Amino acid sequence: MAHAVLIVEDEEDIALPLVRTLEREGYDVRWVDTGAKALEELAAGFVDVVILDLGLPDMDGLDVCRSARETGYEGAIMIVTARAGELDRVVGLDYGADDYLAKPFGLAELQARVRALLRRTGGHANGAGLPEGALRIDGPARRVYAGETEVALTGKEFDVLSVLAGQRDKVVSRERLMAEAWDENWYGSTKTLDVTIGRLRQKLEAAGVTDKVVAVRGVGFRLEGGSADA
Ligand code: CA
Repeated sequence: MAHAVLIVEDEEDIALPLVRTLEREGYDVRWVDTGAKALEELAAGFVDVVILDLGLPDMDGLDVCRSARETGYEGAIMIVTARAGELDRVVGLDYGADDYLAKPFGLAELQARVRALLRRTGGHANGAGLPEGALRIDGPARRVYAGETEVALTGKEFDVLSVLAGQRDKVVSRERLMAEAWDENWYGSTKTLDVTIGRLRQKLEAAGVTDKVVAVRGVGFRLEGGSADA
């Protein structure tokens, strides 16, 4: 699952580019414009990184920071501010923030800082601490992840992988894969299956997944590897 980023910023012109940039990078992004809403979101859980503006309409961002820590928020907090001299104050006092950035800042720098924070804290909420390359299949959502990164699969690739993962370390026959991923009345060439498996392998390998789809000659295929799907 994607890391969740909460943007706390009352200026739309600053917030929207941030939302777009971080969404493009694959984060699950939420945006609120007051300190009160930020604390509500944090209390609800599932936030890995907070990007926190200090000049909010209802409360001082530093108080948001302190309250978040007091109420048990353990994810990363990055403070951004345009107030001259404010960063010195933030750095000098312990409000529980992890990083600080002065406005105006470049989006590339912000992205780099967010990545560094996630590496350092290991993320907090969804899927935290998963080793890189661990294969995770979210069946209901039909999504597949390598560690924290989503692997984009076609519908058939997903179906084939799901069937194999359901029988991990066991051989699944070609017939069964064809029947489950296509349908029982499908009389086409099994070459389609080989093409689908080939693409699936390429995508898993490119994403750094440590599990392998192994061909068992004359029988079918088997998903092998260390990690369990959940
Ligand atoms: Ca502001």
